[in-house]
Amino acid sequence: MHLQIKASLCSQCVAFLRQKVAQFDARNLEYLRLYDRTGVTARKGVWGRCRYPSRKKKLGYRIRCCVSIAQFPNPVKWAVGTRRLDARRWEWVWREDQFRTLEEAFVWIAGHEAFHWLRHSRQIPGRNYETQANRFGFAWLEEWRTLAATSEGRVK
Ligand SMILES: [Zn+2]
Repeated sequence: MHLQIKASLCSQCVAFLRQKVAQFDARNLEYLRLYDRTGVTARKGVWGRCRYPSRKKKLGYRIRCCVSIAQFPNPVKWAVGTRRLDARRWEWVWREDQFRTLEEAFVWIAGHEAFHWLRHSRQIPGRNYETQANRFGFAWLEEWRTLAATSEGRVK
């Protein structure tokens, strides 16, 4: 697996991402790419894509993550589930938070896209829904925050 980073992330964050991926079987993962697109594109926020294996092209999973955030903290709001109101109606369940650093933004989107890879390759349970991918992103984010908070001075 190739972790390719075009963003100025602190080394602790890079190590964290490397360790998160290493917990799983990453032989089928071609690459995990992180791009800081701030100031390069009109698009704002975080986005990414997990491409599934192509037998024809002999390629495994390919994950790209992009961040374009000029100012931190950056408020975010993502759907993390649905709630049934009655027999026919339901509503989204949202989680509001904020990305305080570039590292937090990348950890969240990397977790989100990694969910698609891990679920599709049946390494974790669940359903391959956006809401579940969002939850997985938050799980990585919380882990990263705990780690970053316990090692002050090395966090940007
Ligand atoms: Zn997704």
